[in-house]
Amino acid sequence: MDDGLNPYGNGSAAAKQDILVQFRNVSKTYDGNDLAVRNLDLDVRKGEFLTLLGPSGSGKTTTLMMLAGFESPSDGSIWLSGNRIDTLPPHRRGIGVVFQQYALFPHMTVAENVAYPLLCRKAPKHEIRDKVQNALELVQLADFAKRKPSQLSGGQQQRVALSRALVFEPSIVLMDEPLGALDRKLRETLQIEIRRIHQELKVTIVYVTHDQNEALTMSDRIAVYRNGEISQIDTPDEIYGNPRDSYVATFVGESNLLPGVVTDTGGDHTVQVALDAGAPAEAVASGGAALLAGQRIAASVRPENVRACASLDDLPDTCPAGLNRLEGTVADIMFLGEQYRLNVSLSDGQAFIVKLPISEASRFAVGHPIVVYWDRSDLRILEVVSAGGDT
Ligand code: ADP
Ligand code: MG
Repeated sequence: MDDGLNPYGNGSAAAKQDILVQFRNVSKTYDGNDLAVRNLDLDVRKGEFLTLLGPSGSGKTTTLMMLAGFESPSDGSIWLSGNRIDTLPPHRRGIGVVFQQYALFPHMTVAENVAYPLLCRKAPKHEIRDKVQNALELVQLADFAKRKPSQLSGGQQQRVALSRALVFEPSIVLMDEPLGALDRKLRETLQIEIRRIHQELKVTIVYVTHDQNEALTMSDRIAVYRNGEISQIDTPDEIYGNPRDSYVATFVGESNLLPGVVTDTGGDHTVQVALDAGAPAEAVASGGAALLAGQRIAASVRPENVRACASLDDLPDTCPAGLNRLEGTVADIMFLGEQYRLNVSLSDGQAFIVKLPISEASRFAVGHPIVVYWDRSDLRILEVVSAGGDT
């Protein structure tokens, strides 16, 4: 096969070992018109738990299916361990796959289902017996080997699917919303289980979900998808704490987006802004882009980084005079279990969210005034909306 240009190039042997999968400029269209995935460059590191996170229709499944071999790219190349694989049939890629729907063979027992990939690979009988036993123990289903899928709960069926994806010791396992059909409690149990298996086997996992909490708790890295492209790929910490733009900031966790204008770029990392909501504030730029006075920007502060008091007189002395605060009215108070969420209507009508510890929430009531404030380092400028001069 003509491998084309090996994307590893003349890179070091270490870099070669570190990266298991490479997508190079991969695009996919189903109808010859719209791109489900566009110009995708993606490296999957050996042993990592990488999650593709994004809304429905953003291209996550298409990416996974091209890696598994059930769809082929319209353009570009895919590499596994330095070998080009995008023209190989699925069974020759050595990749394990788990789908949302269990896709077990209903007429086979649990053990037969798990044995299936080994039978296809013509493994010897005794090896099949041992490996099936081990793979079932891994997902705590050794006692269910003789049952049929219909005699299992949804969670158990998904464990069988997981066991079947792992039994032939693939270097990489792909999971497409594997817990999507399960109730919340079971989903959390299996999230922990999948993490444990990942650590125990040191297998590389590419996991698809549209659930940001699932992505944040399970992943080593998250790729945030938008319209067939990756907006940001980073550790959960970075994605949450340092979102690259307002799309990532609002898709992963909640954010209060505050539009405004840069008034002074100052000397240090802080810039002065005039928020449309009616207050001067200090903000830090999250990207590397140079900011200029007059630019319209979108800034954001996380609801859990906001504090609140009932009136300006109650502001702590440590708050710089007249800065980094907004006034409004409490529109709604919701109990979230560990904390309260206050929906605030700012004086200009904009909605604003605050999350407060239980001990502090009792000071507020719906319809009463509220002052929200934050540390200047918690207001981040996410993007420049326009060059300015139009304000
Ligand atoms: P996700 O998994 O993020 O929800 P998909 O990869 O399934 O997204 O879909 C990406 C885009 O490709 C969507 O616009 C979807 O409608 C389209 N698409 C997916 N599969 C097919 C298919 N088999 N035929 C035609 N269009 C498809
Ligand atoms: Mg999908």
